Amino acid sequence: MPSVVVNRDRCKGCELCTYHCPMKILGMSQEINIKGYFFAEVRDPPRCIGCMLCAISCPDLAITVHGNSVQYRTFDYFGSQPNRSGR
Ligand code: SF4
Ligand code: SF4
Repeated sequence: MPSVVVNRDRCKGCELCTYHCPMKILGMSQEINIKGYFFAEVRDPPRCIGCMLCAISCPDLAITVHGNSVQYRTFDYFGSQPNRSGR
């Protein structure tokens, strides 16, 4: 199972990772970090698919995704909407 580690003291609370996570399992803490920001945290670790979008989207490199059993899965961002390219 993939595991996501957030370096809480690097986080600046921008919430980009929570926006990009396709499983919506990231949220913001109730505590503040050393910089005075609410930091990102993983709310439901077993649902993580290891896509690394959170780590890629973090401007402060505060997230690391671990695990050699990473599941790669395409995600349907547009739900049941028709293909916008018309193909
Ligand atoms: S690796 Fe993917 S599914 Fe897991 S927390 Fe990050 S964005 Fe969400
Ligand atoms: S994207 Fe990075 S800096 Fe922004 S909330 Fe997430 S972990 Fe923190």
